[in-house]
Amino acid sequence: MNKSLAVITGCSSGFGLLSTIELARNGHFVIATMRDLSRRAALDEAIAAAGLSASVSIQPLDVANPASHQPFIDGVFSDYGRIDLLVNNAGFALAGFAEDVSLEELRRQFETNFFGTVSLTKAVLPIMRRQRSGRILMLSSIAGRSAAPAMSSYSASKFALEGYTESLRLEMAPLGIHCVLIEPGSFETGIWYHAENVAARASSPDSPNLQRTTGFRNYIQKQVNRRDPGDVARLIARLATVPNPRFRYPIGQDARFLLILRAVLPFSVFQNLAIRTLKLGSE
Ligand code: NAP
Repeated sequence: MNKSLAVITGCSSGFGLLSTIELARNGHFVIATMRDLSRRAALDEAIAAAGLSASVSIQPLDVANPASHQPFIDGVFSDYGRIDLLVNNAGFALAGFAEDVSLEELRRQFETNFFGTVSLTKAVLPIMRRQRSGRILMLSSIAGRSAAPAMSSYSASKFALEGYTESLRLEMAPLGIHCVLIEPGSFETGIWYHAENVAARASSPDSPNLQRTTGFRNYIQKQVNRRDPGDVARLIARLATVPNPRFRYPIGQDARFLLILRAVLPFSVFQNLAIRTLKLGSE
């Protein structure tokens, strides 16, 4: 294999699907993984339409099943002899006010977004260490820099990922391994439309926050309609090869605006603004 070898998680839709195509188009060989191969049709179609079938292998991988990670990575290494890029993309966003989220639901959020990502990263590190080169791109979120209401579980999982990646970057940079955070604002992908990713109590009539949860979800949905997820896929493809990548890449107008607000406003002012804008006081 003389092409750069990229492994991506969560490629059945959204950023994972689109970045598989961008990376293959830019000359990488891509191992595009998904937890359920019966959901591969959209990726198959995109690969065929782009004429890239010789540059992509679709393989099963459930990020929330850490026991499968080392055998999977060992298999990729034995087939291709290298791993240059890991894109930890798979994830979901659990919606619901903190009061309505059970500990079990919170743990499920962390099993995928945090522990699953950590487990796969650990499986790949010895290979990159031996190569003395490699890149690990983490799909964090702007919610990992500024926590969102009605998404405390998601924000907590991405804050954890940000802290982990900061340590990892410091540890791995001397070995030639770049660890990078991508922090999208809200983009139009499947993540906002999975009913199973709303905490059970949040959508029940028993929830004391039902009205606020619904209001917040409507607000987010209006935001995402305007943004092309292809921008994130193109950023991922660029970060695969850019020399000396920075640590953090916020992307999306909303993400950049939020970071400016957080930098210039005292938190008490930011809090009042957020409560008014998101109508959090209306229940
Ligand atoms: P998406 O279209 O819903 O894609 C998420 C992907 O992750 C799907 O392929 C899903 O597979 C997969 N996945 C979920 N749990 C998995 C598991 N246990 N093992 C393997 N794959 C799993 O959403 P997306 O927006 O592209 O999300 C990709 C990443 O971007 C996530 O980490 C998300 O937090 C981050 N992000 C998204 C946004 C946004 O606005 N879209 C903003 C900030 C950050 P299934 O099809 O099997 O469910």
